[in-house]
Amino acid sequence: MGIVRKHNGISLDASHRLYIDGVRSNFWITELVSKKTFLNHGFNSIYFVDYEALLMLQKIRGFFGKPMTVNDWWSGGHLNQRGYRSDLTTVGAKNSQHRYRLAYDFSMKSLSADKIREAILANQPFFYKIGVRRIEHGDYAPTWCHVDMKDTQLHNAIYVFKPRRTTQISQEERWSI
Ligand SMILES: [Zn+2]
Repeated sequence: MGIVRKHNGISLDASHRLYIDGVRSNFWITELVSKKTFLNHGFNSIYFVDYEALLMLQKIRGFFGKPMTVNDWWSGGHLNQRGYRSDLTTVGAKNSQHRYRLAYDFSMKSLSADKIREAILANQPFFYKIGVRRIEHGDYAPTWCHVDMKDTQLHNAIYVFKPRRTTQISQEERWSI
């Protein structure tokens, strides 16, 4: 398939496949943005993918060596806001790292979210090195694993955070954007 967009080391082909530094990744653009974002922006949705964050995701995929899913709306599923979240959605916290392109939620059919978190915490220097800074506590992410790149005071360690509350963007704020 021919490359239709290139940006910061990421490229995209006409089948929606993403490449990192010219190497085929395991991810599709339709998996990393919401349906609305993709319908609004098409191939330009590549600009909503951060190079370092995609590289991190691919290295997580490499570590586990198993298929993982971010969004699945493209194949008829209901998962739609587990990658980049625009200000048009009220899903999740107002300042979630998803809004800054630096967070992904994923799951694997063959491994539970708890087992994924266990593996990350058992290999913290590796995950720190590939860019993971925080994961969300299992009480708040029962069936998926949230990873993000938000800076912490930690070195070579992964911070497990519990959201204080899920701040929804108010209708008023939405209209003022
Ligand atoms: Zn998340």
